[in-house]
Amino acid sequence: MTSISGKTRVAGVVGQPIAHSLSPVLHNAWLAEAGLDGVYVPFAVEADSFFRFVDSLRGGSVAGFNVTLPFKAEALAAADSATPRARMAHAANVLVFAADGTIAADNTDGLGVLGAFAVQAPGFDPKAGPVVILGAGGGAQGAAAAFVDAGCPQVRIVNRTEDKALDLADRLGPGARGFTLDQAAEAFADATAVINATSAGLNGGPGLDVPLSATPATCVVMDMVYKPLKTPFLMQAERLGRPTVDGLEMLIRQAIPSFEAFFGQAPPAGVDVRRLALLTLGLDA
Ligand code: NDP
Repeated sequence: MTSISGKTRVAGVVGQPIAHSLSPVLHNAWLAEAGLDGVYVPFAVEADSFFRFVDSLRGGSVAGFNVTLPFKAEALAAADSATPRARMAHAANVLVFAADGTIAADNTDGLGVLGAFAVQAPGFDPKAGPVVILGAGGGAQGAAAAFVDAGCPQVRIVNRTEDKALDLADRLGPGARGFTLDQAAEAFADATAVINATSAGLNGGPGLDVPLSATPATCVVMDMVYKPLKTPFLMQAERLGRPTVDGLEMLIRQAIPSFEAFFGQAPPAGVDVRRLALLTLGLDA
């Protein structure tokens, strides 16, 4: 159990809704294991209050926070500086407050995706072929920027709203291309990975109706959604025999650099945060 003192360093996660977030479970387990005087709490912020909330924390009374749906674009806009990967993604999931009143933004979602692939699909090489990202929102943007950065020869953005797919592909540069959902089979044809970064399938909702059978047999299929852990999308991939990567591993991998940004050191080894998260989700660890 984390103890609270007069010097406790506070970090957290901001979103709406936020009660479902697993991030406090991960960060507080790491804090307890490391014996750090810190705490990580959820902040539920109303949609029209985000900028006011962020401004009120200038000066470092809070070390920083993660940002989740629907505030990732606003988080980037609220910051005074941003890492190249956050600028490229047009979205931030980390804000850090300095004592001089400035705010720095980062985007660790891309590191989360690449880290999850490294753990659950260790043979995967982002340089080996085209990668398809379904969706064009905050999560998709971070992942797309990371794959471009990692030398992926073509990042294909497939989105329900075509304009958003084309805009994101345009921003990513010549190594990216936009598609509509109707064109998914074309985008899948020679893909080395397909990643669901839409919110379809979240909380047991209907999954995306896309023809995963059009992917090559070795194509790795990932879903960013981790509630449920086995989404209809991942179940379809498993039925086809495709290797899969889950959204929980992404959540853990994006949390590692976030923890470093807030608490100044890497999370300690020796705490099985995946097991803790699975137990919190009510799943067998
Ligand atoms: P956004 O709201 O920014 O984007 C949502 C995207 O999903 C849009 O591209 C939207 O398309 C698309 N979409 C929503 N519903 C449907 C549907 N029924 N059919 C087709 N497309 C749909 O959300 P985020 O990018 O922030 O998050 C997306 C998902 O990824 C969420 O479930 C989130 O929990 C998860 N996520 C998980 C992370 C992790 O660490 N595991 C990290 C980040 C995100 P359109 O443009 O047409 O509206």
